[in-house]
Amino acid sequence: MNAQQEFALRAVEENDIRFIRLWFTDVLGQLKSVAIAPAELEAAFEEGIGFDGSAIEGLTRVSEDDMLVRPDASTFQILPLSSGENSTARMFCDVLTPEGEPSLGDSRNVLKNALDNAKGKGFSFYCHPEIEFYLFRHQDDWTRPPVPIDEGGYFDQVPRSSSMDFRRAAVSQLEDLGIPVEFSHHETGPGQNEIDLRHAGALNAADSIMTFRTIVKEISLDRGIYASFMPKPLVDQPGSGMHTHLSLFEGDSNSFYEAGQEFSMSLTARQFAAGILYHAQEITAVMNQYVNSYKRLWGGAEAPSYVCWGHNNRSALLRIPQYKPGKINSARIEFRALDPTCNPYLAFALLLAAGIDGIDQQMDLEEPTNDDVWELTDAERQAMGIRPLPGSLDAALRQMEKSEFVAGVLGEHVFEYFLRNKHAEWREYRQQITQYELSKYLPRL
Ligand code: GLN
Ligand code: MG
Ligand code: MG
Ligand code: MG
Repeated sequence: MNAQQEFALRAVEENDIRFIRLWFTDVLGQLKSVAIAPAELEAAFEEGIGFDGSAIEGLTRVSEDDMLVRPDASTFQILPLSSGENSTARMFCDVLTPEGEPSLGDSRNVLKNALDNAKGKGFSFYCHPEIEFYLFRHQDDWTRPPVPIDEGGYFDQVPRSSSMDFRRAAVSQLEDLGIPVEFSHHETGPGQNEIDLRHAGALNAADSIMTFRTIVKEISLDRGIYASFMPKPLVDQPGSGMHTHLSLFEGDSNSFYEAGQEFSMSLTARQFAAGILYHAQEITAVMNQYVNSYKRLWGGAEAPSYVCWGHNNRSALLRIPQYKPGKINSARIEFRALDPTCNPYLAFALLLAAGIDGIDQQMDLEEPTNDDVWELTDAERQAMGIRPLPGSLDAALRQMEKSEFVAGVLGEHVFEYFLRNKHAEWREYRQQITQYELSKYLPRL
């Protein structure tokens, strides 16, 4: 028993916790939960708790139905609004095989491996996600377009708005859970909001995103509304992204900062950015994993469609934000393609590995793009060497399936499961006759 495990056991006792929820994530980024009684906790730390993994997306091959989850005591938190009789706590878990080996389908372990690899080279990896989502009125009929709860826009201070009230509730619950929030505001679309988490180690940040999605959904349901992370829910409004600011540290020092260089970017930062640009197309399926994700990427409204970088260029895939004088540790690279439906463990593992590959191979960073890349013609973009991101889930899967890089980072099991599942989603989508086709073609053809 280590000190963190002893702390968790003591906290359970002192706070009269009745339920301990063990959380883990399937390959598609869905949160799974199993509750145990306090009496089971010690055994859970020591041996793990057994369950049948065969029904969890991507977790097992048929031959490995029995799996174990072992809680990571460093993630112990008492859930807010659960005090009194039914106090509940939660921990994220590692998923293990019956032999106690990490499960090949455990995405948290995929990220841990990528972090270990970077650590071997002296780097730790930090992420700061900006999570966008819409708040819609309650609806029962999911075939109808959703109705936003307000008409607000970017940074609007809407008097007595339920968006503001919602953000206040979400931020205070997140902070109660030990997830510091840096920033929150109304986004551009009606009913669209953004909450930015403070930068944290990538594993912690990915855990926080999983918690965030659950908390935000729960608060919305409590209020009779519906929070959605769907990348592009409304045809003529911006989609919801999850821009993520990335940085590498060596000890206490930010590896991306170098005084006197262009945009204060160190050579490490340039190589890291070059690695992400180099691998951008083959990792897109994981960054943007649904059919609908590509409607956002190609829907304009500040979502990136092309592989390029720029300083404060909001049409670029990578943006180097304005460096804050005197805040060396704020040096970072913003990756703008991610959407909030991704599996954050897999996404962060790939972004880190792509950047580290850029450093290992000493990749050269191309010239920054200062233009609005959407305004350029195809010929101009081609002349500048600017490649497009994949245009659909199908195109993204075709890039991914021939990538040894992605297979190496995810491991064959997750890689193959992901491709199989997503190809099936594409096939299903391709069979659909949409509302668009009916209203466009039926009257004419
Ligand atoms: N909603 C935009 C996107 O999908 C981002 C808008 C912004 O934060 N500048 O990426
Ligand atoms: Mg923002
Ligand atoms: Mg935003
Ligand atoms: Mg941003």
